[in-house]
Amino acid sequence: MLNESLLAGYRRDDTPNDDGAPAWKPPLPPAPAVSAGTDVEAMRDAILAKLAYALGKSPATARGRDWYAATALALRDRVVDACLASGAEAVPPKRVYYLSLEFLIGRLLSDMMGNLGLAATVKAALGQLGVDLDAVAEAEPDAALGNGGLGRLAACFMESMASLAIPAYGYGIRYDHGLFRQELHDGVQREVPESWLAEGNPWEFERPDVAYAISFGGDVGMTMGPDGAIRRVWRPAETVRAVAYDTPVIGWRAKHVNALRLWQARAAEPVDLALFNGGDHVGAVAARARAEAISRVLYPSDGTPAGQELRLRQEYFFTAASLQDLVARHVAERGDLRSLPDHAAIQLNDTHPAIAVPELMRLLVDEHGLSWEDAWHVTTHTLSYTNHTLMPEALETWPVELMERLLPRHMQIIYLINWMHLEQITKHRKIGAEELATLSLIDEEHGKRVRMGHLAFLGARRVNGVSALHTELMRTTVFKPLHLLDTDRIVNKTNGITFRRWLHNANPGLTALAVEAVGEGVLDDPTRLAGLAAFADDAGFQARFAAVRRERKEALTRVVRERTGIAVDPAALFDVQIKRIHEYKRQLLNILETVALYQAIKAEPGRDWPARVKLFAGKAAPSYHQAKLIIRLASDVAKRVNADPDVAGRLTVAFLPNYSVSLAEAMIPAADLSEQISTAGLEASGTGNMKLALNGALTIGTLDGANIEIRDHVGADNIFIFGLDAAGVERTKAEPGYAARAIAASPRLKAALDLIASGGFSPAEPGRFLPLVDELRHGDRFLLTADFDDYWRAQREVDAAWCRPRTWWRSAILNTARTAWFSSDRTMREYADDIWRVRVA
Ligand SMILES: *Cc1c(COP(=O)(O)O)cnc(C)c1O
Repeated sequence: MLNESLLAGYRRDDTPNDDGAPAWKPPLPPAPAVSAGTDVEAMRDAILAKLAYALGKSPATARGRDWYAATALALRDRVVDACLASGAEAVPPKRVYYLSLEFLIGRLLSDMMGNLGLAATVKAALGQLGVDLDAVAEAEPDAALGNGGLGRLAACFMESMASLAIPAYGYGIRYDHGLFRQELHDGVQREVPESWLAEGNPWEFERPDVAYAISFGGDVGMTMGPDGAIRRVWRPAETVRAVAYDTPVIGWRAKHVNALRLWQARAAEPVDLALFNGGDHVGAVAARARAEAISRVLYPSDGTPAGQELRLRQEYFFTAASLQDLVARHVAERGDLRSLPDHAAIQLNDTHPAIAVPELMRLLVDEHGLSWEDAWHVTTHTLSYTNHTLMPEALETWPVELMERLLPRHMQIIYLINWMHLEQITKHRKIGAEELATLSLIDEEHGKRVRMGHLAFLGARRVNGVSALHTELMRTTVFKPLHLLDTDRIVNKTNGITFRRWLHNANPGLTALAVEAVGEGVLDDPTRLAGLAAFADDAGFQARFAAVRRERKEALTRVVRERTGIAVDPAALFDVQIKRIHEYKRQLLNILETVALYQAIKAEPGRDWPARVKLFAGKAAPSYHQAKLIIRLASDVAKRVNADPDVAGRLTVAFLPNYSVSLAEAMIPAADLSEQISTAGLEASGTGNMKLALNGALTIGTLDGANIEIRDHVGADNIFIFGLDAAGVERTKAEPGYAARAIAASPRLKAALDLIASGGFSPAEPGRFLPLVDELRHGDRFLLTADFDDYWRAQREVDAAWCRPRTWWRSAILNTARTAWFSSDRTMREYADDIWRVRVA
């Protein structure tokens, strides 16, 4: 079911509580269904009615955007119907609450149509009106409320939970401006604000009645309760309001609907009338601007803490609103908060909502009068935490001084949790100061800072990593001391992707082929993809598989030409690296190989080099200079290589601007080769690797993250593995000078570096890329030099395989056939069974 305030379940009291939050009343019976038709004529008329009555437009004046909004509104009505028809219990036994600072959703139209089973109907209905569905779909802006993999994972999980009928809410922030739009000017990234809400959002329901007061600052006092016990009272300096917006998330075959509830920040008072009337018109709305800033923009930090006060305000804002919401729901339904763990499972996506640990304690102890022991039991049996990175610079910590100023009561609670935690340990055994320091919630080495990973760990019933390797590294490195205190707490849940978006909707041709080969059932049960293996050697099937790919490559060729002006040959091998630009993801290694290949082709023009197109896309964090320089190098290499007649038809390079979910959907079905070449031990899982393998691209990759599990599933013959493994990386790092030795041992690498360093790709500014080359020559934290030769070897293996189409397409088909396990339905089932202990329909 969608949620209580839309259809059934609960009703709100008109009189708010003292703090302005609405009170809850017990459930009402479900509302009677008023259903909207789902045949072509009914759909056509519904779209026309929305166009006229909701948008005030006629077909003659409607723009693509108007048709999109009318279609979305008509579909949303049908989502509401699906919600009513699903007949879900008003009060499910247990709900999942997925807290995430990011949801990288992309477009929703094809999701909604697909899961409602109305794609053909909508296409025909629009067709009767002389409107092209593809053009309508193009008019939808991407909801880019996330930076990359972590946010996209949250979106895949929401879709899978709805498809599995797991009662769930996603909770996050409704940013006015999502991830920036990336423009490239001569290879230089420029960030332009993205305004996805500029023309409204037809999918969401605004809920002005669902609002909570969120406080900051001030101090903490004490009172005596009626029982004589001392109570802490937080006297905040500032209060803002969090207002809910719900986007329905409909599951496959419309069996279940959940809600993604995103909070918008508003001022408690829209205007200071005294100031305004006194003539200070700007000052009168200053407090409002400060409050609303909280949900203004998504932080474009990716893996590095923004370290800014506003970021901490965002984290607390959405966590506190979400907890108040779910606590109020629980109290309305069940009365006693001690039973919260039986009816709610709260998942923290990374440490961004880790403040939930002290906030839930505060709500339970200060506001609902539970004892500390009861509250701690409830907290540690309701919360779980997903870790996404072990890189020290990306592990979130906050200065104690900032916490004390912004969240004084929370800091007290954190100190108390820490004191009890350390007491517990020292009670049982003698322990050195050094070990105690690693266990403490407070890092004393870098000025006093709160370790949010430790806080989340202590407050969680289960802590999970996102691939087998990553989970093992959690146990043996960063979380080792905590792990040894409770060896059951860390569990693995390898990431997944929703096949509805990444196979069915993104690649209808391949989906149709799979349905034809193994039956309709594959749409409901991806493990049936395994049946494709029987066709892997079938020449006719190979030809059709290749034809589907070819069609998508031709489509991508047009996109590349439109966006970059570069002409690429759809017959060439499409070698694709698409992801955030990060040194550990090693786009630079790929560029070095490109340069070396360029030099090799020029040196031996007579050899039969297979035609290759290197495609890159990805955004760099605005303040990440090395990453921006890598983008610029890719663009400069493209410029020279594409203009050189010596390599024409053999090597082409293009960097596509503004990587997004929509661009990913266009690129992934067109990819022949998937680059997953991170330094082993540093990519927690990756999900792009899964999307590409599912669509039949062969992976060239390191033994990192989920690549290892992909290899285990597709078979070592159907993937190109190279480079050091995680243990090898550690060993190499322990031998200083490895970069210099590796460069000296590899004339090919040395020549590529020399060409870049001498301005071969930047003649107007020869030193432009010295910061990149110097880092490799003198530091090379990410071991590009150590892995280069083996990467080159693997790439030549790729060349050889590409020249044997029968084995290539066999491997491609086997990749699709053997990646069903990477469905996020499987991942969500595992969370439901092992972490949340919630029933799956
Ligand atoms: C899947 C996806 C990612 C994650 O890609 P990785 O290769 O796993 O880093 C990032 N951005 C978008 C738009 C995606 O669709």
